[in-house]
This record gives sequence, structure tokens and C-alpha cells, in this order.
Amino acid sequence: MGEIHEGGCVCGRVRYRTSGEPKRVSLCSCEWCTKRTGSALGVSVYFAEDDVEFLSGNLKSHRLNSDAGRWIDSQFCEDCGTVLTWTLEFLPGHRGIAGGTFDPPTFWFEPERYVFTRSKPAWLNVPDGITCFAGMPGSASE
Ligand SMILES: [Zn+2]
Ligand SMILES: [Zn+2]
Repeated sequence: MGEIHEGGCVCGRVRYRTSGEPKRVSLCSCEWCTKRTGSALGVSVYFAEDDVEFLSGNLKSHRLNSDAGRWIDSQFCEDCGTVLTWTLEFLPGHRGIAGGTFDPPTFWFEPERYVFTRSKPAWLNVPDGITCFAGMPGSASE
């Protein structure tokens, strides 16, 4: 089972629980991440879908089709609009959690990669130990 972490949206209605270690932790400056966060980068924490449980509240969904024609289903609190989680066509069986929505200690996980650094702000320095990719590794946009 492993370590348990919980988190939720700004208004507190939607709550979730994760178990175990994330399968992948990415920083990302793609257009979707910068738009959904309103920030320079998104912090995406991916778990096996079965390792994420929703405890309360109601999520609404929005499906975005990327330039590559692949879908992203993002889910947000119907009351406050916080984007908490998503699934991706190209990562079947996984669920992304918006890293900043965990309860303190919020950033308990370690990012290992930074994707879409071609959109990274010039003023943002990447720490040592994080592998950078100009686009999405393994896709035509890399
Ligand atoms: Zn909410
Ligand atoms: Zn992104």
C-alpha cells in the first residue's frame, strides 16, 4: 500500500487520497499546463489509476484535443474550478494529480523531468538532477 497522501481543491469540497509512490513526476511548460495553472509551469504527479481515490465533492470534466490529435481529460471542482486531476490518452492506466493541490507538506515528491522547456521563462532556472526535454519526449514535437 505504501505512503498515503491527501489533497483537495481551493474550496475544500473535492478531496482525494493517493497511495504509494508516484509513477512519474514532471514539470511542464506546455500551453495547457501554463493555461490551467496560470503559472510558468505545471507540476504533474502521475499515479496508477487505482492508487487515486476521490473522497468527496463533484468533479466536472473538460476534454481537450492536442495538436497531435490526442485527448487530455481534465477534471475540476464544480464549485471553485480548481483543476485537480486528469487522464491522458498517451498514458493509459495513469492519473495525473496537480502537484500543488496536495495537503502540506505539499511538495513531498521529487520531480525527475521537465518537459516543454522550449516554453520555459528565461528567468526560471532548472535545478540540477532534473532531465530537460524541449518538447514531449518520444513525440514529433520534441
Ligand atoms: Zn472546490
Ligand atoms: Zn504540460
